[in-house]
Amino acid sequence: MKIAIYPGSFDPVTSGHLNIIRRAANIFDKLIVCVMVNAGKNPMFTQEERVELIRRVTGDLPNVEVDCSDELLADYARRRGSCVILKGLRAGSDFENEFQMALINHKINPDLDTMFLTASSEYMYLSSSAVKELGTYGVELSDFLPAEIIPDFQQRIEQRRLSVQGGK
Ligand code: ADP
Repeated sequence: MKIAIYPGSFDPVTSGHLNIIRRAANIFDKLIVCVMVNAGKNPMFTQEERVELIRRVTGDLPNVEVDCSDELLADYARRRGSCVILKGLRAGSDFENEFQMALINHKINPDLDTMFLTASSEYMYLSSSAVKELGTYGVELSDFLPAEIIPDFQQRIEQRRLSVQGGK
């Protein structure tokens, strides 16, 4: 069985992520979407909340599992019996970083290869951080986020706005 792992922060999952998940689910027998800890970011949603949001938007995909981990990705892949890391490639800016990560992961776990799916043209510009930025200005989000999670996202934006105001 060919199992691929799609790791990321998914804070929150966007329509661009979902596009990659759907396409990968057609290619591999099983896809594990793994919410990783990213110490460099101050997340909007907890790891558990991000898992729940991804589960909600992938409920119709029987070969997609959603998990989270704070392990080294190469160790996680070995433990889950996967030899493929899947990444989405947007503009050239993703490439250099992803290329370096792919080489490092392969060095740590030589059975592990990284495969890339190019972003669909309509989502090429989309990132979770861009959506968070747009959300604070009240921009309509249906082109950027799966409909099922927009209320959760808007509620979180509002909570953040109130806590910033309260802190003034
Ligand atoms: P971001 O916070 O920039 O959205 P993530 O860490 O959540 O990044 O991304 C996880 C993976 O999904 C990465 O491989 C990233 O390149 C990919 N990805 C993110 N957004 C898109 C998109 N719009 N289209 C294709 N791939 C994407």
